[in-house]
Amino acid sequence: MNIATHIQKLRESLPSRVRVVAVSKFHPVDQIREAYDAGQRLFGESRVQELVTKQQELPADIEWHFIGNLQRNKVKQIAPFVTLIHSLDSERLMREIEKQGAVNERVIRCLLQIHIAEEETKSGFTPEECRRFLKEGSWRDCSHLQIAGMMGMATYTEDREQVRREFRQLRNLFEESKVKYFADDPAFRELSMGMSGDYSIALEEGSTLIRLGTLIFGER
Ligand SMILES: *Cc1c(COP(=O)(O)O)cnc(C)c1O
Repeated sequence: MNIATHIQKLRESLPSRVRVVAVSKFHPVDQIREAYDAGQRLFGESRVQELVTKQQELPADIEWHFIGNLQRNKVKQIAPFVTLIHSLDSERLMREIEKQGAVNERVIRCLLQIHIAEEETKSGFTPEECRRFLKEGSWRDCSHLQIAGMMGMATYTEDREQVRREFRQLRNLFEESKVKYFADDPAFRELSMGMSGDYSIALEEGSTLIRLGTLIFGER
């Protein structure tokens, strides 16, 4: 199957609350254009330089999401155009995004990245750190950064029950935080969870954004 067919099939099978982030990292511009021509407008990249280069070469109505580990000194390169940063995981990064949002006179939407997997390597707030961060409240001072929800990656494992437990844990933290801090804030609504290997479980657990690379573009 080609890229357009994959996109078509996904569109037909997904509930309307769910949007697909086509993860185009390491894939060339002409493949992204193929997806674009099939109607896809939402793309995700995990490296700043690659994202900036592609953004310059591709149509302006693409919504670019940043999904990778984000270094503070690189925020300014994506701040003018990025639609959603999925990987806000520290107060220092928050302050830099706020600063660059102000420079660009825009509000940058971000998701709190939560560490739900067993693996040590994956970044993000632990649920406890996230609760502390929200309680401490410095995010309320930000007028150029908007917390729009949460993102997490499950453990890479064959154990589907474990994956489900981890997604459920993220969903519960999301709901708990919504009630406690964002009850009056309709912008806090995104739950970014699920990749090519586990998105069907994530959908069952309440995902609103699924990040699919391999399933759309093939192996990297
Ligand atoms: C690469 C990546 C994806 C997509 O992974 P696939 O397994 O190819 O769908 C999703 N989320 C993040 C954060 C990634 O880095």
